[in-house]
Parts: sequence; structure tokens; C-alpha cells
Amino acid sequence: MSRLAAHGLVREFRLPGRSRRHPLRAVSDVSLELHAGETVALVGESGSGKSTVARILARLDTPDAGTILLDGQPATPGRRGLRHHHRQVQIVFQDPFASLNPFHTVDHHLRRPLRLHHPALGRAEEDERIHHLLDRVNLVPAGRVAAAHPHELSGGQRQRVAIARALACRPGVLLADEPVSMLDVSIRLEILRLLDRLRAEDDLAVLYITHDLATARHFAHRILVMYRGELVESGPSDAVILDPRHPYTRLLAAAAPDPRRRGTSALAGPDLPVTRVEVPGGTDAGGCPFLDRCPQAMPRCRLRPPLVPLGGGRTARCWLHAADTDPAGSPPGPATTRPPAPPTARPDP
Ligand code: SF4
Repeated sequence: MSRLAAHGLVREFRLPGRSRRHPLRAVSDVSLELHAGETVALVGESGSGKSTVARILARLDTPDAGTILLDGQPATPGRRGLRHHHRQVQIVFQDPFASLNPFHTVDHHLRRPLRLHHPALGRAEEDERIHHLLDRVNLVPAGRVAAAHPHELSGGQRQRVAIARALACRPGVLLADEPVSMLDVSIRLEILRLLDRLRAEDDLAVLYITHDLATARHFAHRILVMYRGELVESGPSDAVILDPRHPYTRLLAAAAPDPRRRGTSALAGPDLPVTRVEVPGGTDAGGCPFLDRCPQAMPRCRLRPPLVPLGGGRTARCWLHAADTDPAGSPPGPATTRPPAPPTARPDP
């Protein structure tokens, strides 16, 4: 049984300048499962909806549709249900400079979750737990670190404090939202190794959100690829990186820095042409969300592609892998024919 599961998550935002009937759909029909002792990487470019999924899973945001199951049970509404969820599901944010209050000491940041979630602990037990937490994230001497304010610590030390804070209430699920992207390159690996060690020691289910395919492959057991709010590919890490099936995953893999590949553009892999890169802003209902960038688009891509099981625990949401499926009754088009116009363009009233 999964520690945390989500089915059919949808989250829409109304934005100024966008009609009420066509809100920005940040998350569309996302389903995933996190199991104890497993790291799942959620990868995708900025704006693809990864952090929104994390906030929904942590119940810091409410989805417009979909369900969340914690240990097989639907998330309980109300204050008590929320507190139980927060005790079990903790999140580490991207920015260690913003996630700690500069007015409070490290001791305060770690004592607060203990008092909220374990009110029966005495002062001496709290002290002992705080020192143990700092020890676990390699912040020593614990006494001196506990008395420090965030501005006295480096970025890496602050992120370790944030991780210790997340572990204070002994959660079963840890959501790490780009935990190293704002840190110095030299310490990123240390923080990721720390998260991996804590996962193994505590049998944690970890969701690692990143746009770095190399670390996703190294630290995650499974990879989920997200594009414009939708999961477009999933599977075991090595399989997804070494043999990507969705055109977007291929583009991501080709864009990953590779010292063995010389003389090619950062966006051009051996098989892929350079495609137009744009900042995604969500997806309109309709066809494939990758249609306007896909080098293999075809006429049937105007219809929403199904999620196709590929075997070996893999799936891809792409018509290229659904040759026998034809809900519209149209024959599959040639793999390189692009449609004459984007199908999702709709005039705003
Ligand atoms: Fe490309 Fe069509 Fe597959 Fe979308 S469904 S990724 S447009 S081939």
C-alpha cells in the first residue's frame, strides 16, 4: 500500500486578463503514488505544475478535483485531519533563505513542530530531540547551531535546518521541492546524499521535485515527467532516461548537459532538431499539450492522447504509442506531419 497517493488532481487558477471560463489549468488529471522507502522524482521545466502538485499533496493548497489518500485512507477534512496530514507529510521548500524566520533561532524552528505535534514531550525531551535532529543532518556542535539565527548560517546549513524541521514530527512522507536548486553547486550533492540517507534510515516515501535529470536518475527509483500540468511519462529511472518514449522526455534528455556529446547545441540531441523553447503557461483543454513544440506531431494529436501502458511499469501520454487506439475514428497520420494550426487556440470573449 502506498504511503501517499493522489488520483485525478486538477488545479485551476483565475488570472487577470484571462476569461473566467478559461482559467489557467496548472495541474490536469495528475495521479501518482509514493511508497515507503522509495524516491520518486517529479521532473519538468519551470511552470509545469510540479510545485503546485507538491503543495496539494502537502495540503497547503486545495485541488479543484481529485482525491488524496494517506495510508490508503481519504484525507480527513477539518483541523484535526489537516494536523494529522501535516504530521505525516512534510515539505522542504526550494528557498532556505525564505523558509526560515530570520527573527527566530534554529532552536525555535525545531521546537515549534515538536510542541505542535508532540505536546506531551517535556522540555528535556524536546532538547534531546532537537540535538538529535541537528546531529542527523550533520549540524554540529548541536548546542551552538541551535542558538544561531538563520543569517548566521550558510545556505546549505539553512537547508539542513529545514530538513531537520521537516523530520521533527517523524513523518512518513517527505516532499522535497527543488531542495538544492538555490544552493551552491559544491554542496548540492551533499544535501541530496543526506536526503537519500534519511530516506533509507526512516523508510520515508520521498517526492524529489527537480528539473535536473542527472540527479533524478541517480537518486530516484522512479521518474514522473510533467509538462504543462500533465504527467506525460513515467517509469523506472534508468528506463526513462536511457530510453525516453515521450517526445518531451527525449527533448529533456537531449538538453541535459553531457560532456561526451561535443559540438551539439544544448537543446539538440543526436536525433532531435532544435525546437522553439517557450515559457509554458498552462494547458487548455483539448489536444496534446506538447503539440506546438513536438517534432513528431500529427493530425490526431489534436485529440487528447491517452495514457498508454508500455510494460515494465512505464506509461506515456502520446499518440505515438497508441497506434491501435483511435477514439475519433481517424487513421493515424504520418509521424512528421504538423497540423496547420494549433487546435487549442480559443478567442477570449
Ligand atoms: Fe507529439 Fe502527438 Fe505525442 Fe503529443 S501526442 S507528444 S504532439 S506525437
